[in-house]
Amino acid sequence: SGLAPAGASAGRAAGDTASNGRCHAGAPGVGDPYYPLYGNGGYDVQHYLLKIRYNPATDRLVGVATITARATQSLCRFNLDFQGMTVRSVKVNGKPARWSRSQDHELTVVPQRHLKKGHRFTTVVRYDGVPRTYIDPSAPDLPYGWIHTDDGADVVSEPEGSANWFPLNDHPTDKATFTFVVSVPAGLEAISNGRLVGRRTHGRWTTWVWNSPELMAPYLATATSGQFRLRTYRTADGLRMYDALDPDLFTEPSNPDDPASPTFGEIAQGSLARQGEILDFLERRFSRYPFSTGGGIVDDYDNLLFALETQTRPVYSKYFFTSPANGDSVIVHELAHQWFGDSVALAEWKHIWLNEGFAQYAEWMWSEDQGPGTAQEQFDAVYNGIPATDPFWSVVIGDPGPELLFDNAVYLRGAMAVHALRLAVG
Ligand code: ZN
Repeated sequence: SGLAPAGASAGRAAGDTASNGRCHAGAPGVGDPYYPLYGNGGYDVQHYLLKIRYNPATDRLVGVATITARATQSLCRFNLDFQGMTVRSVKVNGKPARWSRSQDHELTVVPQRHLKKGHRFTTVVRYDGVPRTYIDPSAPDLPYGWIHTDDGADVVSEPEGSANWFPLNDHPTDKATFTFVVSVPAGLEAISNGRLVGRRTHGRWTTWVWNSPELMAPYLATATSGQFRLRTYRTADGLRMYDALDPDLFTEPSNPDDPASPTFGEIAQGSLARQGEILDFLERRFSRYPFSTGGGIVDDYDNLLFALETQTRPVYSKYFFTSPANGDSVIVHELAHQWFGDSVALAEWKHIWLNEGFAQYAEWMWSEDQGPGTAQEQFDAVYNGIPATDPFWSVVIGDPGPELLFDNAVYLRGAMAVHALRLAVG
């Protein structure tokens, strides 16, 4: 998990008066052209301990983020990505630090003593507020980030939602381990990445503790809450699994015109039951599954229209579960992302096709194995089905721009590129 080279980022912060011969101002971004302010320079995060209390009735979140990092430059000050929430205090290595906010996105922290290059330091940020929800640039009614639902929140932050609920170094080049301590009103569930290591109810609140010991790009963190039926089990291979399904999914027919059709819940449960088999299928083609836990989260929420490969525990829109074949296919897609996107992460967001092309191609390989058709047939259907004049063919999938990050072309032409490579190299 590296950052921009120290030389490239030294002294670039706005109003950089603190830079002198002995210490630098960490840069406000890592230099990703799609999101110039995302990520920061001068340090490498190792661990986030996120203590969060979220009340769905008021949509308010109270948080304490403890961020352990190593300085990669000698630092007089450094930035975190954080927006929307109110900062109450910041401490560095146990001592109160000065801080300021700028450009709606940057939290600049000035520790009392400068941080030595190569040394570890701990930052504690206390904050609260109502987390902001993002609207997708490509689809005006598609919320992402911290999405307040009818009974909790779906937390699906790709690409830039994380800064709305915790202060961080928001770029996939700075992976870290995570511990989540999430309190929600008693009776609700809070589901994060990794392993459930504790659950305690004190009065009106239940605190859920999840530990994610494997490095993770921070946009893959989730703290999804609401009413869930949590099922814990192991696959035949012994992988620890956590599946969370909203009980309301079991009362809603998947076909609104046919009250006798199977419910979203029944179909989702059937597809999730195949995760062990799907992981075996992917392991045979890719490599060992890279993480020590698995599972999936399906919420009954009308405005979540996509799925996200949140590490070890993807979040799925219920609308994928309209038939067993569609349900199985989206699970193949999100589990393939555990290798492509999660374990192997992007250096720059413009390379998004490496995530989506491989995940889409995994669906085509699954189709080749299980029906309805071979990868070649899937390729041909796209190739022959979309007229040459369609803008689909002019998107530059190796540099689609932030507006077209999740364009169909990135997925389908990405998979076509992988198929062409497979034909050439096997
Ligand atoms: Zn995907």
